[in-house]
Amino acid sequence: MASPRLLENAPLLTRNTFRVAATAPLLAEVPDRAALDELLRFETLLRMPLLVLGQGSNLLLAGDPPGLVLHLDLRGIAVVREDADGALVRAEAGVVWNEFVHYTLGRRLEGLENLALIPGHVGAAPIQNIGAYGAEVGQFIETVEAFDRASGRVVRLDNAACGFAYRDSVFKRQPERWIVIAVEFRLPRQHELQTAYAGIAEELAAMGVTSPRAAHVAEAVIRLRTRKLPDPALIGNAGSFFKNPQVDATTAQDLLAHNPRLPVYSASTPGQRKLSAGWLIDACGWKGFREGDAGISDRHALVLVNHGQASGAQLLDLARRVAASIRDRFGVTLEPEPRIVGASW
Ligand SMILES: Cc1cc2nc3c(=O)[nH]c(=O)nc-3n(C[C@H](O)[C@H](O)[C@H](O)COP(=O)(O)OP(=O)(O)OC[C@H]3O[C@@H](n4cnc5c(N)ncnc54)[C@H](O)[C@@H]3O)c2cc1C
Repeated sequence: MASPRLLENAPLLTRNTFRVAATAPLLAEVPDRAALDELLRFETLLRMPLLVLGQGSNLLLAGDPPGLVLHLDLRGIAVVREDADGALVRAEAGVVWNEFVHYTLGRRLEGLENLALIPGHVGAAPIQNIGAYGAEVGQFIETVEAFDRASGRVVRLDNAACGFAYRDSVFKRQPERWIVIAVEFRLPRQHELQTAYAGIAEELAAMGVTSPRAAHVAEAVIRLRTRKLPDPALIGNAGSFFKNPQVDATTAQDLLAHNPRLPVYSASTPGQRKLSAGWLIDACGWKGFREGDAGISDRHALVLVNHGQASGAQLLDLARRVAASIRDRFGVTLEPEPRIVGASW
């Protein structure tokens, strides 16, 4: 039986996709479920401030995390039930998300194709209800198994209890409370493919695909993402740094009257509209901006980038200035998408 491995003063530079330097006072590496159960018996450890760390692709380490950093390496995948209509598939927290998407497509299960190539681990997918190209993972999650630090128990939350919303969930709202252990996905054999969004149909046409299957859609999404998003292996970033802001319909109308090219989308909340944060940032002239090693990508205005040696605090400072300029010019409040550690927004 493996035990958790505890490391003091562990460097986190290579454990976050912004590639900023930070130190974990205590890092626990958990190789399997038995090691996790062993760790969960240490009450002193569990009373410390906690950061569960996946691949660090949705984090800005603006300072050192204050307590325990927990890294779960549980990598099991199992088909729990399967029939002609679909399957219930369970994946543990440490499974790499994109590998899981390909595992499901390989078994001819649909649903996750629009979410291909999102970095990170399965355990992080429910945290902000990862979404891309018109799909959100919450649509396919049946149950999340998690350790609840409030009750000291492992619990199973059904879809409704997860409170999924746009880049949000109960887990994101109470980040210190939950340790996601595994996620169960209900995936259909066949569903209506979403190809109307942001260039997928055009990409499929360019690929010469006329009757797409889910695997074709995943391939189109991968091609689009590879072209449009800066690769964290080449330049530090955490994907979109800001959520698309939601405003009421009247505010959206007023903004449109003054900015006819502003993209406005429907929102899941009645009476609300979603605005393109990337458009607002671009309109304020930030795209391609650089100060020292902190900057805004020249490929995508929503992506904050580390050109090399920027600190988390410098990146946070730039993000705050971007948000302030959008507030001054458009009266719209931007909220960061990644979790900010070691400072508050
Ligand atoms: C290039 C790029 C593109 C991206 N594109 C998208 C996109 O299209 N859509 C999208 O939604 N996101 C996107 N992201 C953000 C990111 O990939 C996702 O949010 C991903 O789910 C984060 O996974 P992670 O393992 O890296 O989590 P981390 O960054 O390590 O953690 C993120 C948050 O989840 C918590 N967490 C992680 N694992 C657990 C767990 N097991 N239990 C409890 N809490 C946990 C952390 O404490 C933290 O609060 C992108 C990021 C990059 C770098």
